[in-house]
Amino acid sequence: MYKNKYPKMVVDLKKLRQNVDRVLLKCQDQGIEVAGVIKGCSGLPECANQMALAGCKFIASSRLEQLKAARDFGVQADFMLIRVPMLSEAADVVQLTEISLNSDMKVLKALNHQAGRHDKKHKVILMMDLGDLREGFWDLGELLEAALAVENDLYNLELAGIGTNLGCYGAIAATPEKLNHLVECAEMIEERIGRELEFISGGATTSYPRVLEHNMPRRINLLRIGEGIILAKDLQDLWGYDMSDMNRNVFTLEAEVIEARQKPSYPQGEIMFDAFGNKPEYEDRGVRKRALLALGKVDYAYPELLLPRDKSIKILGASSDHTILDVEDCEHDYKVGDIVEFDLCYATIVYATNSPNVDIVYI
Ligand SMILES: *Cc1c(COP(=O)(O)O)cnc(C)c1O
Repeated sequence: MYKNKYPKMVVDLKKLRQNVDRVLLKCQDQGIEVAGVIKGCSGLPECANQMALAGCKFIASSRLEQLKAARDFGVQADFMLIRVPMLSEAADVVQLTEISLNSDMKVLKALNHQAGRHDKKHKVILMMDLGDLREGFWDLGELLEAALAVENDLYNLELAGIGTNLGCYGAIAATPEKLNHLVECAEMIEERIGRELEFISGGATTSYPRVLEHNMPRRINLLRIGEGIILAKDLQDLWGYDMSDMNRNVFTLEAEVIEARQKPSYPQGEIMFDAFGNKPEYEDRGVRKRALLALGKVDYAYPELLLPRDKSIKILGASSDHTILDVEDCEHDYKVGDIVEFDLCYATIVYATNSPNVDIVYI
């Protein structure tokens, strides 16, 4: 491909590294290890590498493909699968990762079987659903039974601990009470198996507020953090924490202007359905200057979530491969060939790093 290719995602690895270092410092200060979660940037191996070099205990993803890519890239780390495994991928899980999160006895047995076949010892963390209603054991008795089975019968598995996930589906807060309940469950297991568990994993970025507020239950010793490292935006914008020591511009999306001219703001003719089957509404603001960009919904999915660095740009909409901007109020006189920069959010980073049309460039 030609050299100056757009659309382009510029990834600032130094800023990313500073973010990892800061999160690690805060967590390790409180006796908490961090699994660096790479799925938020589609597992970019260069990003995984920064997390590993900084000292993340594990490199984690929901996708085996991303962990394999990081491994093949040469990232030196222990790898963790954080989406409970498919039964059909058990053999790959034990070969590509050191540890996985689990919530099903049938899958655990398959992992045990495959670990034996491949002469591996595979670590597992059993997930407990504390009310967010995504993955995890719901019944405490069932969790205890699974823990005992792993400990006593599944010889090729090592019961490394228990964990939970909060805030992803049910948007349930990781309060000290919820996490204390997780610790109680862990201690019940410990009593039955007669030893301490290595990990009690208290969640994702949504549990990081407990670190910031210094009220994490003492025995929680592992968090799995993605968004809070690569973006650090949600805790600031949605939760109101001061994240000003974090770089919230690790990722920049750049796109090229392919048309710039005055046009009416209200479409002319009978309004039917747009490219995605919606019947849109338009506000007539008279003739205004617009700019057309060569990137579209297939690259980021949600036009309303793109954040132009030039704050006087307004995003009017998008189709699969075009983004339409109102640039009437801009100081800069936008012309064909100009490059427009965007800040991103979690969703738009995931999509843009996953788009084969977007060139990834590291600085
Ligand atoms: C995605 C995910 C994480 C990381 O979430 P962030 O919000 O990016 O920190 C941690 N644990 C599990 C189980 C996940 O699915």
